[in-house]
Formats: sequence, structure tokens, C-alpha cells
Amino acid sequence: MTAKSQQPTVIVLGSGTSNGVPTLGVTYPPEYLANPKNQRTRPSILILGPTGNLLVDCSPEMRIQVTRELVTEIEAVLITHTHADHVMGMDDLRSISLRTKRDMPVYTLPRYQEDIRRIFPYAFIELPPEIEVPRFDLRDVPDTLEVGGMQIEIFQVTHGRIPVLALRVNDFAYVTDVSDIPTEARAHLNDLETLILDAVRIKPHPNHFHYEKAIEVAKEIGAKQTYFTHLSHDYDHDVTNARLPEGIQLAYDRLRILI
Ligand SMILES: [Zn+2]
Repeated sequence: MTAKSQQPTVIVLGSGTSNGVPTLGVTYPPEYLANPKNQRTRPSILILGPTGNLLVDCSPEMRIQVTRELVTEIEAVLITHTHADHVMGMDDLRSISLRTKRDMPVYTLPRYQEDIRRIFPYAFIELPPEIEVPRFDLRDVPDTLEVGGMQIEIFQVTHGRIPVLALRVNDFAYVTDVSDIPTEARAHLNDLETLILDAVRIKPHPNHFHYEKAIEVAKEIGAKQTYFTHLSHDYDHDVTNARLPEGIQLAYDRLRILI
């Protein structure tokens, strides 16, 4: 089965922070958990293009996230950075490579290619064909990535002290795991219809935009609609959305955006 669409569509596969929500070991009021929009898997999006799909990050829940959208095809993967919440689902890409008999193209920075080789060494060694392992074709990131019949601009933002890849397709941009947007990156964020932006938690965080900072940056960028992502359990979906300024809302798992 395939779920290709003519007009590119973004699916928010996961809107949660690195712990996921609910977080292991935490007790929540039943009314908090009763709202499915307070159940947040680890952060990732899927962009459905006219001729193929780009997976952006590969969270520990990737298999569950992608199968629940009834999507069976992934043409390529972009890894924004190699923190665990963004790469730990990569092993499950094996089932796609086994079916397509094609190494999965994985675009990321050279330093993150090294991390992927270290985390998944068995994906890069010679093994008998009956041993089923993922196969990654690690690739440097062009300024404009062509996947699925889409032109995807890739640029870098800063997450604490490390670079993170951000992207723009048409009038949509995705900026996860960010504590600073450098001037060169800012130039990609003009005249946006939709922006998805990191707003990890209510209190300030050294490596992420927090609630107030994210509102300030979202207003400055001025996309018609901004969705916050990488969200902790600080946020009750409905309560927060009622308080947010016009044009800003929380993302949620399975949100779909036409782009
Ligand atoms: Zn993260």
C-alpha cells in the first residue's frame, strides 16, 4: 500500500520531547492522559511528495509512527542531528531496504555520518545475504535536496553547541532542536505559510527555545501559522492552545499540513 499524494503534505509523526509524553516513571492526572493530543512520541516529520516521501529524523517510535499513517514508502531520510530521540529508530528502516533491495539514502552532516556508523556498525559490514540488517547510504547534504519531486532547502541552526539541520519546502519550514537561529538560516524563513518550531518546555532551557522565547521568535518570523513541537509534559494541549497568541498553536502527533 502506498500513501503518495499530489500536493506535498507534512505529517507530524511525533511532537514530543526526548522523553516522550507520557514520560516513563511519571504519574499523570487521568484527565491529562485522556486527551490523545497530550500523548507525544519523539520528534519527527514525514513529507509526502508527488513522487516519494522524505522522513525527517528517525525516532525510537518511527515504525509505529509511519505504519499508523499507512505509509509504506520512504525514498530518503534526513537526520537533523544524532541525539538519541532523532536516530534510535533507524534499525527499523531495514524492512524497507530489504523490500526495495536499495540502501536507504540518509542525508546528514559528516560528523553525524560518523555517529551513525558508530551506533549501527553492522549496517556497514559485509554479511551473508540471509542476515537481515539495515543498509544506509550516507550522503552529504546539498543546499537544495531533491526528494519525492520536491525541492527542499536545507540550512543549519544551533542547538546548544551543535549544528542541527532545518528545512524549507515551498512555504513550509521545520526547525527542531534550536537555541539560536543564525542570520544565514533566518534568510530561509521569510514569507512562510507554516512554521514548525521547537518550544521544548515552559522554563528556559540552555539548548532549546522554551515557551516564551519560542513565542517571541515565532512572532518575529511571522509565519501565518506556527506550530510548536518537541514538547514536554509541561503543556496541556487544550489549555495551552487557548492561551497562545493568534497564529500559534501546539503541534500534535498525526497533524497533517498541506504545503
Ligand atoms: Zn531532540
